[in-house]
Amino acid sequence: MQGLSFLKWVIIKGVITVNNKDQILGLLGKNIEFSLSPKIHNYLSNVMGLNYHYFIFDIENSTDLKKAIEAMRVLKIQGVNVTIPYKKDVMQNLDRIDQNVKKLGAVNTIKNEEGQLVGYNTDVDGFDELAYNKGVNFAHKTVSLIGAGGAAAAVVYYLAKTDLKKLYLINRTIGRAEQLKTDFLQDIAQIEVIELSGNRLSTAIDHSDIIINSTPLGLQDRYEQISPIKADLIKEKHTVIDLVYKPRITKLLQDSKDQDARIISGIEMLIYQAVKSFEIWTGALVEYDLVKELINNL
Ligand code: NAP
Repeated sequence: MQGLSFLKWVIIKGVITVNNKDQILGLLGKNIEFSLSPKIHNYLSNVMGLNYHYFIFDIENSTDLKKAIEAMRVLKIQGVNVTIPYKKDVMQNLDRIDQNVKKLGAVNTIKNEEGQLVGYNTDVDGFDELAYNKGVNFAHKTVSLIGAGGAAAAVVYYLAKTDLKKLYLINRTIGRAEQLKTDFLQDIAQIEVIELSGNRLSTAIDHSDIIINSTPLGLQDRYEQISPIKADLIKEKHTVIDLVYKPRITKLLQDSKDQDARIISGIEMLIYQAVKSFEIWTGALVEYDLVKELINNL
């Protein structure tokens, strides 16, 4: 298993000395070498005078994921984040899950509570903080949410608590969006599923006040210069939020800026969800000044 052998290598080679007081944190996912999470968590641990060390564990497949989770117990790894594509798969390997995870069906944070592995989802907290700090008001608004994966579920979970007028769930694979609609049917007044490449897309965008991208389209090195929608669909009236945070100004955000729409990068959501995970693992409270410093300097 790549993740474990990397950890052993790091410890054996003395790249980092982990003593009894030190605690290990990490990220489980696939193709995650670009992740900013180690920077965030190691920074927080350093400036707060704590002994946590955060590593990237690139996991090849679900079989290795199961082994990695077992290794958490054996090696007493204090906590991990989980990202694409394991947020759903990982749930079956845990002892307990938090209340909101039951509804969301996705875990992005695991805490090792004395051998019991507990799953949380802090993406919801991340989106909540982003919306609050940017003053985005969803009440009586129509939203086009592009994507229907784990991040989209966290956004819908948040939206269900606002007094939303209508939600367009736009996805490449219709079945996945239909499932998300079914999960939240009781919570949102109107939900309509739209195919990303279908002819109802332009109507949905036109009727929307807020557009949110929760697909990886726009992501540096993989989908850079790709936007989920055509530039001419975006108007000045739109507020456009891109959950992709690298680069900060994605193609979608650049197109939106060119149309004088309001743009919001996913970087704040990333930082807030990370801070919330860090607080869950360590029990420490992260000062707002530190969060601001991360947002400005990452
Ligand atoms: P996920 O569960 O794998 O879902 C990915 C979604 O993107 C699915 O709806 C998928 O459509 C769609 N998609 C993937 N590739 C596509 C393509 N080539 N064309 C069109 N649609 C495509 O992933 P996730 O956890 O939701 O994460 C999605 C993105 O959000 C990632 O880029 C991640 O970095 C970002 N994110 C950001 C934050 C933050 O804090 N800012 C937090 C979480 C996630 P199908 O259903 O058709 O496959």
